[in-house]
Amino acid sequence: MEKLEQLYEGKAKKVYRTDDPNVYLVEYKDDATAGNGAKRGTILGKGAVNNKVTNHLMRQLEAREGIPTHYVQELSDRETLVKRVAIVPLEVIVRNIAAGSLSKRLGLPEGTPLKTPVLEYCYKNDELGDPMVNEYHIAAMGLATKAELETIADYSFRVNRFLCAYLKEVGIDLVDFKLEFGRLDDGTIILADEISPDTCRFWDSKTHAHLDKDLFRRDLGGAEEAYQEVQKRLLGQ
Ligand code: UDP
Repeated sequence: MEKLEQLYEGKAKKVYRTDDPNVYLVEYKDDATAGNGAKRGTILGKGAVNNKVTNHLMRQLEAREGIPTHYVQELSDRETLVKRVAIVPLEVIVRNIAAGSLSKRLGLPEGTPLKTPVLEYCYKNDELGDPMVNEYHIAAMGLATKAELETIADYSFRVNRFLCAYLKEVGIDLVDFKLEFGRLDDGTIILADEISPDTCRFWDSKTHAHLDKDLFRRDLGGAEEAYQEVQKRLLGQ
């Protein structure tokens, strides 16, 4: 597969066209941003970790849970082939333990276990700061149909159940995470984007140490080591 021209550069990834019109090549960068781009920096080695961790988790979700994903093939440390999709402009957030914006909004101290998992949607729009929306907003704006949203919610809870158990085995509590979905040409909804320490809150089960991007967001230090630790626990390298 040939890497052709760059189509898009996001905050953490670049996307290239390939000689197959249905396949794109994603390249993960070490660039880190937080607060909707207000804070910028670098986490050395992050791109390679996020590439490998995302691909590993997507392979598990496909094989063991039957969740369709955009993953096609890992090409190198930072490069992966993925299916071309039209991204549904929603950030789908699943939470098991209160943290971050939920803690602020509802006054729940970070670390408070939630009695049931919480599903939230945000409208992907940088200018508006990704505002939270509910299923009525989503229908009213035509962002996704009711049937698509049912599929998205079902997949998201299944991803949560699988990842919670899978990560528990390597001593990680899954606090919360963000998913994105895309549509294939025939309308099929599949899991897209990434599942990594950039997009999940991972806490060490014993010490509750952060193993994720909060180390960067909150200037706590040690982000490089924490990303490597997640890769080591999941992939043993
Ligand atoms: N998240 C993300 N991208 C975003 C916003 C949130 O990947 O643009 C992830 C974040 O890493 C966390 C979860 O979604 O695992 C919930 O984030 P929250 O709403 O608490 O926002 P934050 O506190 O990160 O601003």
